[in-house]
This record gives sequence, structure tokens and C-alpha cells, in this order.
Amino acid sequence: MNPIEKLATYFKEFPGIGERQSKRFVYFLLHKNPNYVNDLGNNILSLKNLIHQCPSCFLFFEGDKNELCDICKDKKTDRTSLLIIEKDADYENIKKSKNYSGMYFILGGLAPIVTKETPSFIRLKELLSTIETRAKHDNLKEVIIALSLNPQGEHTDMYLREKMSPLQEKYGFKIVSLGRGLSTGTELEYSDGETIKNALRNRQ
Ligand SMILES: [Zn+2]
Repeated sequence: MNPIEKLATYFKEFPGIGERQSKRFVYFLLHKNPNYVNDLGNNILSLKNLIHQCPSCFLFFEGDKNELCDICKDKKTDRTSLLIIEKDADYENIKKSKNYSGMYFILGGLAPIVTKETPSFIRLKELLSTIETRAKHDNLKEVIIALSLNPQGEHTDMYLREKMSPLQEKYGFKIVSLGRGLSTGTELEYSDGETIKNALRNRQ
């Protein structure tokens, strides 16, 4: 395999990138000046050293390994509220809406509709233990499920409600879904700040 084809195989693994686009990326780099390509390479190399996943909410953040992220550390964060999202990109959007000041939890995926192995697709165990800790120590009042409004998102919503219900009975927190303020088929990742703000305001 020649270097062009070899690099293209890496780009092909990127989300949403096909064969043709992956080649276009390689030719794009070939046309850029050497400094650009060097910088890009260095940034990729340092990524894993600079960015780590928060052991509490699973967000990626700039900081040391095993340290908590700024949101989890910040005393001003509202610890009585926990918002469940699928992925980091959703967090960016909720942050932009400037209408939420509580804790987050990154589920890491959605529950597939037809499988019995659901826990292997999402961080269910971690979620339940986070909820239990927050309920015991931080007076957790509300869990907000903020997943995309497609069949898989709605399936996951129902699945999570079922799994959280024993803890809900024990500790008495409220479970709400953000979905009702969004229209069907909406991907949280592509929603604008205003839409998310309204959805947060109208959560039920
Ligand atoms: Zn965190």
C-alpha cells in the first residue's frame, strides 16, 4: 500500500467519512505547506497526553489523568441536578444554550433496540452508581434524560427509566426527558442554543 492509500485508510475510519473524502483529505495535506502538516501531526500526538476523561461524568477535558473535570470540581455546579447525554458533542450544545448549571453524565452511546446485551453499549453501571452517590451525598432532586428524539433515543430513554426506577423509589428524585421541547427526529448535536434553551425550560 502506498503512503497515500495508507493515510487514507485512517481517515476512512473517521465518523461520516467515506473512501472518496478520505483521499481528498490526503491530497489536501499534500498541497499544504510542511509547517501545517507538522503542526497537525504534533497536535494529534499530544492529544492523548493533554485530554483525559473525567472519572465522574466521563466528559473529555484538558487536565491530568484521574482528576475531575472543571464542572465536577466547581463548587458552583448544581449537584442536585444530573443531565444524561449520549456524547461530548451534545455537551457542547447544552453549554452553549447557557441554561443549565448542573452535573452531566456521558452515556457513551444509545441502547440498541434489538439486543439483550444493552449494558455493553452504554455506561449503565457507572450511571446507576453515580446516581446513588449523588442521591446519598448531594441530595439529587432531578435526573434529566437528554437524548436524541429518534427511535433509538426514545428506546434508550425508556430503558434508562426502567433501570433507574428502583433508585428513584428509594431516593425520591424526579426523572424528566428533554425530548418534549424538541421535534421528532431531532439530533441534540445539531440543535441550536435557542431550541435547547426552550427544551430545558419545558422539560417534564
Ligand atoms: Zn466531570
